Amino acid sequence: MKTVRTRFAPSPTGFLHVGGIRTALFAWLLARQSSGQFVLRFEDTDKKREVAGARDHLIASLRTLGLEYDEGPDIGGPFAPYTQSERLEHYQAWAQKLIAEGRAYADPYSADEVQAFRDQARASKQPFLYRNHRPESPPEWDGTAPLRFKSDPKDYAWHDAVMGDLSTGPEVIDDFILIKSDGYPTYNFAHIIDDLEMEITHVMRGQEFLASQPNYLNLYEALEIEPPVLVTMPHILAENGNKKLSKRDGAKDVLDYIRDGYLPETLVNFIASLGWNDGTEQELFTTTELIEKFSLEHVQRSGARFDEKRLDWMNGAKIRELPLPELFERSTSFWSEAGLASDTDYRQKVLGLVQERLKFFAEIPELTEFFFKDLPVDDVLITGNKQLKRYSSAELKNWLTVSRDRLSLSDFTTEDITTILNELLSVTGQKPGVLFSLIRIATTQSPASPSLAETMALLGKDRCMNRIDQQLSALNT
Ligand code: GLU
Repeated sequence: MKTVRTRFAPSPTGFLHVGGIRTALFAWLLARQSSGQFVLRFEDTDKKREVAGARDHLIASLRTLGLEYDEGPDIGGPFAPYTQSERLEHYQAWAQKLIAEGRAYADPYSADEVQAFRDQARASKQPFLYRNHRPESPPEWDGTAPLRFKSDPKDYAWHDAVMGDLSTGPEVIDDFILIKSDGYPTYNFAHIIDDLEMEITHVMRGQEFLASQPNYLNLYEALEIEPPVLVTMPHILAENGNKKLSKRDGAKDVLDYIRDGYLPETLVNFIASLGWNDGTEQELFTTTELIEKFSLEHVQRSGARFDEKRLDWMNGAKIRELPLPELFERSTSFWSEAGLASDTDYRQKVLGLVQERLKFFAEIPELTEFFFKDLPVDDVLITGNKQLKRYSSAELKNWLTVSRDRLSLSDFTTEDITTILNELLSVTGQKPGVLFSLIRIATTQSPASPSLAETMALLGKDRCMNRIDQQLSALNT
């Protein structure tokens, strides 16, 4: 068996949204589980579409997710260079071979002439095929005209590791451009040469390339090379509707998610689940488990739905699994950024309380603000509260005063506060939904908090009493 070699071959034409990196992840998983190699290659032959900074960004995205590559533009490798614009002589050499064998020719037509052929075909309701206009005696190719492949139209039947058995007729085979008039190869040509020279065994890519596959098979044949294993990934669909996911649908860049405090291992797990499962109901996987369990057989054919709420759920689940000191360590920058000044021990305790509800680290400042500063009394918290708005200020004030008196005698441990809170229910004759909401609002000025007793215990008696007093004076007015 040949060593498995997979590649991720992005064009540096923009920033990858979270779905765009799935190809890289699947290729990486396959290489890692077979002790093979994973290669990064930049396909930069379309100079007009190149976006500054895209290369560094792609590399940073892979590294952040832990998708280390074994060979690549910045680290080299046995088949260097790994950037197509630096490999022009390789494509030239293969082009010359095809010319010598009569399988490539210079395109003698101007763009206007080709357009006229296209219009003709449309007028007669025929699909446009360049090969119908193949010149009888093309000029010698001097590099200034496009070089075209002289195809050999025929039926194809082939196997795609995900899409299964596929077949097409000769009508889809055409004379495509190998090298453009600017001297750069097309993707259609360059990737085949590179995959061959870099000994890639599995070509994994998006569905947008499926229609061109028969043409690639035709070129493999002309080059007398055995095609690699072909693997077509299902589309990733936007949250609503059936269109392909794009940035406009809110799919953010991988690094944006990291900036918002999603764990890299969650992103890996989430991206793996876009079109793959292990055949069971399991949804949460460690990266090691993914490497073990990933298999092409379980990659689905139909589109996979991108659902950010699932990502939030997954990240919350992974956050809850982390030991508190590690979670604290990994969220450090979100505490200092938020200016939540206080000692580490206190911050860690706060984190321990919100760990249960935290979906991503960027929520930390908002969820924990009241642990660090006294927020001004917000009347809306009461007037907008379904349970509390039905009562008069006098009633609320009365219950809060009773609660304050009783709580002021407490030694303020969680247990003690819990006991007192329960007693207060019978003393005031109120339901928890009313009384505890009232005390929660008074002590936090927030609509929600972790467990009330734990929250109050951590805030401490003085702070809670002061805040209840603030609330009581506000209820006076
Ligand atoms: N350069 C192509 C792209 O960015 C890669 C397709 C492939 O993996 O072969 O879409």
